[in-house]
Amino acid sequence: MIFLDAAATTPVRREVLEAMWPYLSGDFGNPSSHHSLGDSAARALAAARAATATALGCRPAEVVFTSGGTEADNLAVKGIALARQAGDPRLNRVVISAVEHPAVEESARYLERMHGFAVDVVPVDSCGRVTAEALAAALRPETALVSIMYANNEVGTVQPVARLAALARAQGIPFHTDAVQAAGWLPLDTAALGVDALSISGHKLGAPKGCGALYVRSRTPLEPLLHGGGQERGRRSGTGNVAGAVALATALTLAQSSQRDRAADVAALRDGFIREVLAGVPGAVVTGDPHDRLPSIASFCFPGTSGESVLLELERRGIICSSGSACAAGSDEPSPVLLALGLSADVAQTAVRFSFDPAITAAELHEASAAVRAAVGSVQALGAP
Ligand code: PLP
Repeated sequence: MIFLDAAATTPVRREVLEAMWPYLSGDFGNPSSHHSLGDSAARALAAARAATATALGCRPAEVVFTSGGTEADNLAVKGIALARQAGDPRLNRVVISAVEHPAVEESARYLERMHGFAVDVVPVDSCGRVTAEALAAALRPETALVSIMYANNEVGTVQPVARLAALARAQGIPFHTDAVQAAGWLPLDTAALGVDALSISGHKLGAPKGCGALYVRSRTPLEPLLHGGGQERGRRSGTGNVAGAVALATALTLAQSSQRDRAADVAALRDGFIREVLAGVPGAVVTGDPHDRLPSIASFCFPGTSGESVLLELERRGIICSSGSACAAGSDEPSPVLLALGLSADVAQTAVRFSFDPAITAAELHEASAAVRAAVGSVQALGAP
């Protein structure tokens, strides 16, 4: 089997499992307890926070551990918008892009439904990029927050985050970015990016599912979503997930030291794969930005097929991939991301996403491109959809 669905999730790395194991077994204390076992857990949590902060170029106090990317996005969008509105009731709009992950999009819709916010959706160009002009046109004096992702999970397009963040901040508007897919592949220095908040998720990086973090620049207003014992400096109550935090910090540190070195190689392998698929499958189209895209994502539409049928044919041939995002898998609706890029619903239904982990090889991708040619051919021969 060749696993080409790393954007959905990744296996836990051995080093990560070894780093977290003590906190699942002998050193199992509650970091809030005032005894030696608790102190040991608290020290591990503090070390994980410091390592995460180093990877994000921020201060440890600016890291909030969460249960993953979804919670980090919810906390950023709802937490910052609601806290800003509490300080100034005129702040009742949020700006998002047309290609956000549902964790951001649905958080914005919640603000609209339950708190009377207006949601301004910035369109993208045919490559999936938000231009500075488009963002500038969406900003208003009432905008409480801008949330635009760093790299897209379906087509891999990378946004000019530093430029967009500077634009928002010049008007005093906090800027959040969902860096769940970017982490491990692109620089995450929050100071250089100039963002006020940034979300990451462990399971995309070789940590287990259920751990993530939100960077929040100090003094950014933030209303907590989870209330209770006041952990995470009151920003996220709940007994600290020590093993999860250790896993996230270890995976992030490893990704930044080794995976980033692989980015150029993986990008070259991705380009070779794209060339082979385009040469072998007449009518195939690459979706997303041809240049500014994650090294790890190659996404296509295969007109005259159905993406789901191609996936099944690929799986029969030992290739595991997906028709778009894992959260939308199985949905009959065409991907809103692909529609936002200007593709028709018919073509959007033919999407297939291949996503790679850092260990991917040229031989695997060569085998995969041959399988794609055969799979698309057999779906077309059956007269699908
Ligand atoms: N944001 C993006 C861009 C993602 O790709 C994902 C997961 O697929 C998430 C957020 C949600 O992260 P998690 O699975 O950790 O909740």
